[in-house]
Amino acid sequence: MKNYKNYALGSWVKGDGEGTALYNSISGNQIGTASSKGLDFAEMMNYARKTGGPALRKMTFQERGLMLKALALHLHSVKNKFYALSAETGATKIDSWIDIEGGIGNVFANASLRKNFPDLPYHIEGDMAQLSKNGSFIGHHIMTPKEGVAVHINAFNFPIWGMLEKIAVNLMAGVPAIVKPATLTSFLTEHMVREIVDSGILPEGSLQLICGSARGIIDSVETGDIVTFTGSADTGKMLKSHPRLIDKAVPFNMEADSLNCSVLGTDAVPGTIEFDLFIKEVQKEMTVKAGQKCTAVRRIIVPEILVEDVQIALGKRLSKTTIGNPSVDGVRMGSLAGDEQKMEVREKVKKLSKSQEIVFGSLDNFDVVGADKDKGAFISPILFLNDDPFNKIDCHNIEAFGPVSTIIPYKNIEEAIELAKMGKGSLVCSIITNDMKIAEQFVLGAASMHGRILVLNEACSKESTGHGSPMPLLTHGGPGRAGGGEEMGGIRGIKHYLQRTAIQGHPTTITAITKQYQVGASQNTDGPHVFRKHFEEIKIGDTVITDRHLVTLDNIEDFAELSGDKFYAHMDENALEGTIFTERVAHGYFIMSKAAGLFVDAEKGPVLLNYGIDECRFTKPVYPGMSVGVRFTVKEKISQEKRDEEDIAKGIVKFLVDVYDDDGETVMMATILTMVRKLNQK
Ligand code: NAP
Repeated sequence: MKNYKNYALGSWVKGDGEGTALYNSISGNQIGTASSKGLDFAEMMNYARKTGGPALRKMTFQERGLMLKALALHLHSVKNKFYALSAETGATKIDSWIDIEGGIGNVFANASLRKNFPDLPYHIEGDMAQLSKNGSFIGHHIMTPKEGVAVHINAFNFPIWGMLEKIAVNLMAGVPAIVKPATLTSFLTEHMVREIVDSGILPEGSLQLICGSARGIIDSVETGDIVTFTGSADTGKMLKSHPRLIDKAVPFNMEADSLNCSVLGTDAVPGTIEFDLFIKEVQKEMTVKAGQKCTAVRRIIVPEILVEDVQIALGKRLSKTTIGNPSVDGVRMGSLAGDEQKMEVREKVKKLSKSQEIVFGSLDNFDVVGADKDKGAFISPILFLNDDPFNKIDCHNIEAFGPVSTIIPYKNIEEAIELAKMGKGSLVCSIITNDMKIAEQFVLGAASMHGRILVLNEACSKESTGHGSPMPLLTHGGPGRAGGGEEMGGIRGIKHYLQRTAIQGHPTTITAITKQYQVGASQNTDGPHVFRKHFEEIKIGDTVITDRHLVTLDNIEDFAELSGDKFYAHMDENALEGTIFTERVAHGYFIMSKAAGLFVDAEKGPVLLNYGIDECRFTKPVYPGMSVGVRFTVKEKISQEKRDEEDIAKGIVKFLVDVYDDDGETVMMATILTMVRKLNQK
């Protein structure tokens, strides 16, 4: 009998005592035990804070991103190792794919986010705030990694995805983690953590694992820690109200039960592609992972005149759900994760049956292939019909965490919105419609009670990721019953692990801290032209003050001819009445182009190319007879990794282009992006 271990303080530790028995949910046979008895949670948390935290905080976002990429590539190369064990949780191949490859995909997605962060261990957020008239006092925001540990308490349904989607984010931010999977399926998480630890890709102390119970762990949280919880609302609320969280101001992100719905638009009548999409999507969301998905469709909201059509079509599709051992060909739905879960779902179905009628499926009368129905945690899909959803409200309150859903009729879109909101806060809902008015009305009406809304129709159906898939770049979480938490969401998620601090001071000081040139900071005009310098030699604040150019009417005429832009303000002095212009004004694009003519040092050198302009503003009209010059300043540098051995080693250099007139006033400001060769080509 295998004893699943904990990974604590840098080694694999067997918990004391007999531990909790872990079962194969298909055969019902015991496969091992897990115990966390004897672990010192406070010591584990300190170890993470003292060992993993400092190691991660030394790394820049680019380095942490590359570390995650290496981890994702490694896990992808060994992914097949996890499928057999995953099947023991009751998962089919598709269910396992979501858990294993979905989880690895999440690590890849987070790794790619490094491109949105500076090449620093901390982040500079948003724009500078001008706090004084003369510009000698400004403000900005920096975001530094929290110096605590992320404690992830997870539900049993996604033992791999649940861990990877969370640690990818805290590791990217520079924060270590302790993962506590639900004991029931912790054997699979343990397998994955072994692979991660053995790879040696993460710095020691950045990931620890508790396989048995973690009761008491909240007693040891400190300011700077973050707790995330995924599980039942009851456990979540109990943990969230722990006085230690309040005392130490520790954020608690909760993802709990959710009575998600899918709505059929009135336009999506039988015979339309949308009707078929709806039936397919609902059936999928009921049966994938045997309905043990936080995003599964629990309420099927349909126009009352289509109730019968939906009931028949869905029943027909559900009847094709072969239940059984996932290793047997043709099995479409495995088992629940354990016996306790089966008892719980049966209990909830019985409760729901008191106010609504089962129109498909049965608690006892169904077939199972390749396994013993009574030994494994099997259950049939169960479809209810509720004929009075505003008065029989159990379906809006009771979550049966299995393949169980209720058809609910609605009269008009306002009613559909009200019914959707009766879930009192959900992770996700979907509406299947090809009518843009219905889509708009429903989304705007239901959004405040939902974390995510999918609008599905033929146009996006082929590439749609579906109702049930939280995407790493989109926020996952929902209000109210769903826990009020928010996670993932691309860079938004990473920011949950960073402390935002407003900083104030002189632009030169703020430049030194942010490593981004701030207008008004001191400039360095010594040395060769910046285009003569390699990436490593360029310093923030290096500046070129160019010659001046006298703008003439001929310039305007020539530019109009060349570009074809003959807008009246440039060409017709009789058309200026009622405008802000007093003369024919030079094209903004001419000023930008002329600026390039002034700041570019043309000889071949380390600058490889100019690949764009950010934030370009024309702030003052330029008339013939005025002369312009450029202050061209290095604003920011971002090192780039080589794609392969042949690639040129280079980095991105952002330059501030400040074009000013005879009075020294800015007439145009832009940021240009260049790629600059490195001196060191290794
Ligand atoms: P659960 O019983 O609430 O357990 C969740 C986690 O909390 C488990 O790891 C559990 O560990 C741990 N836990 C329980 N008491 C604890 C304590 N006193 N201190 C520290 N940890 C404690 O939920 P579940 O049965 O695993 O999951 C099913 C529920 O999760 C469903 O209701 C589902 O809707 C919800 N869920 C929500 C989402 C979402 O994203 N919103 C995702 C998945 C699931 P043990 O296993 O050791 O008890």
